[in-house]
Amino acid sequence: MLEIRDLECGYGPVAALKGVSLGVGEGELVALIGANGAGKSTTLRAISGLVKPRAGSIKFRGEEIAGADPAHVLAAGVAHCPEGRRGFPYMSVADNLAMGAYLRRDPIKVREDFDRVYSDFPRLAERRAQPAGTLSGGEQQMLAIGRALMSRPKLVMFDEPSLGLAPTIVEQTLGIIRSIRDDGATVLLVEQNAFAALELCDHAYLIETGRVVRKGAGKELIADPLVRAAYLGG
Ligand code: ATP
Repeated sequence: MLEIRDLECGYGPVAALKGVSLGVGEGELVALIGANGAGKSTTLRAISGLVKPRAGSIKFRGEEIAGADPAHVLAAGVAHCPEGRRGFPYMSVADNLAMGAYLRRDPIKVREDFDRVYSDFPRLAERRAQPAGTLSGGEQQMLAIGRALMSRPKLVMFDEPSLGLAPTIVEQTLGIIRSIRDDGATVLLVEQNAFAALELCDHAYLIETGRVVRKGAGKELIADPLVRAAYLGG
């Protein structure tokens, strides 16, 4: 579904990605793990068109999307749930969800998706008229996930969905991500919590300073000495 080859990206003089190649098959849950600053978020930003690659290719369902406009990538079926739960704090929960569907022209199905998000996240249903900025951290994370789902994505990318959440909410959030995959979407997950990500995923890539240094099934990487030493506390 997604095939990235030799991707290079940077910010001014900073080379953030130095030739990343990775693949995500249809229906898979794939994790990107690695330390702060390794280039995980930049990879997601390049896919969604927020960062223009300097070199390399990004193919989504056979179409070259490297350098494409973010609206085009979204319309093609890629949703990006960014780090930090960025939403529209002064807008209501319902309006924030509606923003996720702004490109869609199928109002009946959009209505169905509203109902689905509200049934998956009853807290959002209760607070639908409230400004998003008044929600707790966990609720804002649910809202960010719900907003991404409102575009009915084929591929949904999550950047650090568990960051700053209480442990019980982390488990709940990762459970929701698994169920999104079980419902038929393909998931690319960036996660600081390497162990949780490796347990959840089909396969994973370890990124260090802009390069993929390990790839394999989640279980293989959990057993890998380099991964154990650097990311799983030995
Ligand atoms: P984190 O978990 O901290 O977000 P990451 O693996 O997602 O880490 P990136 O955010 O992709 O890493 O950062 C890769 C490199 O690019 C780092 O060296 C970072 O300092 C740099 N970088 C990221 N965003 C910017 C920016 N807006 N301007 C300049 N440099 C940036």
